[in-house]
Amino acid sequence: MYVELMQEETLETMPITRATFHSLNLFKGVLFESIAGYLLTCPIINAKEGDVLINPKTEERRLLILIDGLLEVKMEGKEGMHLGDVRPGTCVGEMSVFDNADPSAWVIAKMNSTLLSISAPTAKAILNVSHPLCLNMIHILSQRVRYSNKIVFAEQNHIKYVEQNATIDPLTGLHNRHWLESMYTREMKRSNAGNFALAAFMVDIDHFKKINDTYGHLAGDQILMTVAQTLVEALRPSDMPVRFGGEEFTVFLPGTTPDNAAKIAERIRSSIEKKKIKLESGGQEISITVSLGYAAREDGDTVNSIIDKSDKALYYAKNTGRNRACQYVKGM
Ligand code: GH3
Ligand code: MG
Ligand code: MG
Repeated sequence: MYVELMQEETLETMPITRATFHSLNLFKGVLFESIAGYLLTCPIINAKEGDVLINPKTEERRLLILIDGLLEVKMEGKEGMHLGDVRPGTCVGEMSVFDNADPSAWVIAKMNSTLLSISAPTAKAILNVSHPLCLNMIHILSQRVRYSNKIVFAEQNHIKYVEQNATIDPLTGLHNRHWLESMYTREMKRSNAGNFALAAFMVDIDHFKKINDTYGHLAGDQILMTVAQTLVEALRPSDMPVRFGGEEFTVFLPGTTPDNAAKIAERIRSSIEKKKIKLESGGQEISITVSLGYAAREDGDTVNSIIDKSDKALYYAKNTGRNRACQYVKGM
């Protein structure tokens, strides 16, 4: 066997002792003699806390076995996202040795650490001669894949959670439909129970498609923000404006009688009509109009039924010339 050919003095120049070798998980069940010869040329690295050991930007590919200390794997550089710790006995850098591609993450010494550095060709050679070593490596890789999957699943669940619980429309800063569902339902119950007045508005920008087509989508976005802001300015803090979708807004106005609803709707319509909007994208100054439909709560109304009524009134406003505010009446 290989080691039988080695002289005593050669063994003394081994980078790691037999005892250390056997203490490392990666070498569990591996015959020291089967790979000792390969390890003779492998340097020991003494890394200081904070030293970067693997940097995806450098081309060097090597297998680093942690003998002592603690390493940290990070996503994008020293300040990047923490992916995990590496403890003595296991290794880093194996993926780039196997697939011959750049390392995928950064590895940094979390404390002063001692490592055995094995070049890519030597790493492949020792894997070739030791079946137990291959199995140990597969075991380490399987654990890493399992761990990465866990991170990916956790991340996906987090994104889902954030999406499902987001209540603000990022463009206009108004509440979104998700918020509407719970808050409008609550307000509807309250108004129905106390027989309080409640008005619902549906506001839709006139010929918005044409604005987008003429001035571009960024201008369209600016118009949406302006309309949202104008709505907020024209309403009381207790009113509930929502970006319903695209270029449509709904408002619930608790305690608002039909007479007052008519005044507020007209105020919104006229203040939008009067506004001169200087486009950030092209510098032109343009004006726009909106159409509004509104409905007063009646006995038996639900969130859907009152929104549906205000939508019918909006449809009527659109069909009778736009830039109008129309109240819902039965049969619309
Ligand atoms: P009407 O007067 O009948 O309401 O006509 P309209 O053109 O306003 O209505 P239509 O439903 O045909 O077009 C709505 C447009 O709104 C189409 C869509 O591209 C645009 N839109 C929807 N959401 C956004 C957005 O977030 N940003 C921008 N810029 N445009 C949007
Ligand atoms: Mg429209
Ligand atoms: Mg529309």
